[in-house]
Amino acid sequence: MVSNLKLVDAHIHLSDPQYTGHTDMLIDDAKNSGLVALVSNAMDYATSVEALKLREKNPELIHVALGIHPWNVNILKEGELEETISLITEQHQLGNVLAIGEIGLDCKYESIWEHQLMVFDRMLRLAEKLGLPAIIHSRGTTEFIVDMLPSYNLKRVLLHWFSHPMTALYKAMEHGYYITEGPPTVYSTGIREVVTNAPLTNLLTETDGPVLFRKAPFNGQMTRPSFVREVVHAIADVKGLSVETVADQIVRNFEVFFNVKLI
Ligand SMILES: [Zn+2]
Repeated sequence: MVSNLKLVDAHIHLSDPQYTGHTDMLIDDAKNSGLVALVSNAMDYATSVEALKLREKNPELIHVALGIHPWNVNILKEGELEETISLITEQHQLGNVLAIGEIGLDCKYESIWEHQLMVFDRMLRLAEKLGLPAIIHSRGTTEFIVDMLPSYNLKRVLLHWFSHPMTALYKAMEHGYYITEGPPTVYSTGIREVVTNAPLTNLLTETDGPVLFRKAPFNGQMTRPSFVREVVHAIADVKGLSVETVADQIVRNFEVFFNVKLI
């Protein structure tokens, strides 16, 4: 029964160098576990190009979000920002881009704050111009970002791995934003509280692989798309709903948010 569940991983980094040599295994894992869509998020130009190659080989399963991650703004090569914007624009015209991501702001990289802000603004303007959803990283900056986004004309916003504060969650929900949650839903009381307070219709599942999870049942394992099965079970547990109801709604949310038909 459970093996028939249709699942989605709305945030993974298949083209991350840590996954080099493992992508065939990850794709097999996804196909064997009921995954019907993976959104491979880029971090810079090179990971955008690699993500597009993976999509070309598996267009029925792999979708791509392209952009520049806040962690990478300081190691951009000369011209890389403009080249990435051109690549995204050109690939969008070919119908290959699902979203702009992963973009955002990270409080741990305060020394490059101005640079982060400049790149984030360029990425948000691009999402606006192309009419694409934005997938946002907001460690320690969620409230700031939720307050700044209304000045952009964005169609759809996904706050990935939303953790706190709850006031920003309520504002995000009022704006119709979506959030993704991953393996910590199984063991983190903070994330379970977010899931309790977020309507199921605004939730998507993710792994954020190759990020490693140090707690059971994920510890010691390479992060794989099939981890979202545990996430769906955890959401069902928190919400007091059946696993099937949660899985179905999350696939529907994916279709609505990204404007694609999966099954
Ligand atoms: Zn990520």
